[in-house]
Amino acid sequence: MRFPFQSSSAPPLVAGRRFQGNGMTQTSIVQPRLLSQLNERLVLDAIQSYGPSTRAEVTERIGVTFATVAKAVASLIDARLLEEYDEPTVGRGRPAKRIRLAVDQSQVVGVAIEIDEVLVAAAGLDGKRRGATSTFKTPSSYQQLVRSISEALSDLIKSERLNVLGVGVSVAAQVDEKAGRVAVAANLPYLSDKPLERDLREAIGITCSIVRDTHAMCVSERLHGSAKNLDNFLLLHLGVGIGMGVMIDGRLFFGQYGYSGELGHMTVVPGGQLCHCGRKGCLETVASEWGLSDHLSEQLGRQVTVEDVARLYASGDPVAKKEVRRTCKHLALGVSHAVHLFNPGKVVVYSRLFSACPELLELLVHNVERIALPLNFRGCEFVNAATTPLDGSIAHIIGHLADALAPRLSHTTIVN
Ligand SMILES: [Zn+2]
Repeated sequence: MRFPFQSSSAPPLVAGRRFQGNGMTQTSIVQPRLLSQLNERLVLDAIQSYGPSTRAEVTERIGVTFATVAKAVASLIDARLLEEYDEPTVGRGRPAKRIRLAVDQSQVVGVAIEIDEVLVAAAGLDGKRRGATSTFKTPSSYQQLVRSISEALSDLIKSERLNVLGVGVSVAAQVDEKAGRVAVAANLPYLSDKPLERDLREAIGITCSIVRDTHAMCVSERLHGSAKNLDNFLLLHLGVGIGMGVMIDGRLFFGQYGYSGELGHMTVVPGGQLCHCGRKGCLETVASEWGLSDHLSEQLGRQVTVEDVARLYASGDPVAKKEVRRTCKHLALGVSHAVHLFNPGKVVVYSRLFSACPELLELLVHNVERIALPLNFRGCEFVNAATTPLDGSIAHIIGHLADALAPRLSHTTIVN
């Protein structure tokens, strides 16, 4: 068997070959089972990238033998990650057997825990949602949240006759994804320090993985959103808080402990307004939904929501226009710093306000251009997101299942 990471002239991989990646070199004994898993992962990734394929097409794309592909496909069908189907043919002849990501044989479920509502939906392993989305108001206690999600899942599985391989849960909070624990949830305090992954897994009896909403959306945007197949981009989530997901070289950047992307708590007004985090003058105090609503409420002498802000801005209200422009200027300050740091190909913006007022994206771009370094700004496209945290939770659990199968070694080279 030829190992997929070798050139055709290279000798077969044997125990003791050195792996070199990211400047580090180590000696490793590669076991046959690991080789099989790596091949399975390659086949899975190829079908995810190219869509439904025949075994011969996969063989050609990843450069291993037909027998190796056939063995990997058989194992992936057994694991219910792939399924075989007959491609309808025109005219005579036997229909071609094609392989696709499982859609009919097995599914995943995504759960998005947002500040005011929880959304639950099923999807195929291709990440496309199927059936209805169930929505309920975010419960006011942790026990009720776990119970409500568990009940919604149970109803969905029964009504759609699902065969669920895993459940992805995105949370609007700082999440210790390795430990499966919500670390700090400033806007849903009862979630802080809770082992949500373990508790949900015990309640529903299915593999479960929790993820921060901005991290989840980075994955769905790259899989089938506005940053499809792009290796370097930023996901800016403007909501009650401000969060950022960072994709570097095709990999999500977590940071050492998983808390990367805290753009909202960058100080932009030293000694300014008190933030939810307990510090003063954070970007969130002047550029988030709550910051904007608070400032506009103060100016108008009545409480306004973000929906009111969008309506007032669209109707040309001068006070709303002034506050929104001021918000965009502050936001541009934070975004330009991120553009300087990461040199992204795109900044993908997910925001209810920006969706309701499309011209705000142009206003943000204009303000960033005024303060960003030209070399960093040029070539960086600003676009609205095409997916949601719910899509992100689905994309996350699909990635989690693939990672459980075998690690992705696309950035590792093997040397003699
Ligand atoms: Zn803060």
